[in-house]
Amino acid sequence: MSGVNDIRSTFLDYFQKNGHEVVSSSPLVPRNDPTLMFTNAGMVQFKNVFTGLEKRPYTTATTSQKCVRAGGKHNDLDNVGYTARHLTFFEMLGNFSFGDYFKENAIELAWKLVMEGFDLPKNRLLVTVYSEDEEAATLWKKIAGFSDDKIIRIPTSDNFWQMGDTGPCGPCSEIFIDQGENVWGGPPGSPEEDGDRFLEFWNLVFMQFEQTAPGERSLLPRPSIDTGMGLERMACVLQGKQSVFDTDLFRTLIGTIEDVMGVKAEGSASHRVIADHLRSSAFLIADGVLPSNEGRGYVLRRIMRRAMRHAQLLGAKEPLMYKLLPTLVQEMGRAYPELVRAEALTSETLKLEETRFRKTLERGLSLLSDATSTLDKGDMLDGETAFKLYDTYGFPLDLTQDALRARDIHVDIAGFTDAMERQKAEARSHWAGSGDKATETIWFELKEKFGATEFLGYDTETAEGVIQ
Ligand code: ATP
Ligand code: MG
Ligand code: MG
Ligand code: MG
Repeated sequence: MSGVNDIRSTFLDYFQKNGHEVVSSSPLVPRNDPTLMFTNAGMVQFKNVFTGLEKRPYTTATTSQKCVRAGGKHNDLDNVGYTARHLTFFEMLGNFSFGDYFKENAIELAWKLVMEGFDLPKNRLLVTVYSEDEEAATLWKKIAGFSDDKIIRIPTSDNFWQMGDTGPCGPCSEIFIDQGENVWGGPPGSPEEDGDRFLEFWNLVFMQFEQTAPGERSLLPRPSIDTGMGLERMACVLQGKQSVFDTDLFRTLIGTIEDVMGVKAEGSASHRVIADHLRSSAFLIADGVLPSNEGRGYVLRRIMRRAMRHAQLLGAKEPLMYKLLPTLVQEMGRAYPELVRAEALTSETLKLEETRFRKTLERGLSLLSDATSTLDKGDMLDGETAFKLYDTYGFPLDLTQDALRARDIHVDIAGFTDAMERQKAEARSHWAGSGDKATETIWFELKEKFGATEFLGYDTETAEGVIQ
């Protein structure tokens, strides 16, 4: 009962039996929602139902939602490979009430599934509540019989969930499992909370408000429920592993990387990053995103290039990612037929991107290694070099940061932005132009959007525009 397919159906069947409509996952690119880079939670497709703008023929629903957290408010790109629990692509299981049941029922439903459906050991569980939400603490005592020390009151935004800068929001309560003393970390709210000992696997959000603008909140028409359980994290718990990368699906992907590269994983972040980024790249392409120099396409390009640098670290002499794709499609294609439909396109896209980037990757890395040869732990790489890597060699800023992470060297971001601004200003001053202001503006907008040099057609986007 611990493979992802079983966990998914246990969850959906349980909520269906409890009267919820089973609704399919929406695509990773939110429909008609420019406020959001990618679908980052199960509630995204129901945003307008919560606010009352849209009516559905049901008032409760359950889903398994594809999510990507690689930009915007919830960005886990920098965590992947370095924590045991973060992926850029993951599936979120959820149950929703649109003005139907509220807090008490939500906690009851969740608790019953955790105890009876998944059979988790109660003595290893604990919950957090928002510190102003005494009602939730009382309900946990009543329903689960938790003593006070198992209910942790958190005063920060960690327990006030928001989809983005605007949208439905509310206090939340998260369920954690203690993975044992031999794993480093402390309970939520403690200084060691970022460790992996206490794993959050389910978040129950008590939706009550809509954030309409910064500092402005209105009440939702009716109190509602939105929950999210990470499927891969649940697999980790049920398979008795301490890291999502040790679950069966990731073991298979990592095994393929080991076979193709002839390099054992042995705890290296590179195998984990490549396996995760392969999933997010393939699912994004299957949902219509293609690598480009701006917006969503640039986030995809950044993900792909990060993976390619890690492939390079493993000694790849030719494109790697497309060779891993068949394993992914074999593992996940049944649950997600779009992966199968897009397989040829995805394979071509991965191969083309990697072929092109490899031309400059090696040269960029050798420039980087020269520029940092005299730097020590805690030092800073100058912004000028980071910009050159970006502009001439196609290194997204976060790739450079990731490359220096193991040596604890940071990048001078202000210097990077300055260098970019200077280049833009210079380009403008050299522009002879027609003297026609309108044409000039359009020319620069196009140049900034699509990149001026045909070197590899890389971006001249502003850092603010692409690093969210
Ligand atoms: P964390 O604190 O571990 O970063 P979160 O509080 O940001 O998680 P939520 O926004 O509450 O996560 O999302 C609901 C659930 O989705 C989480 O309880 C977790 O099980 C799962 N989840 C969130 N982010 C990730 C991720 N990057 N990879 C895998 N699962 C995730
Ligand atoms: Mg998070
Ligand atoms: Mg959390
Ligand atoms: Mg959470």
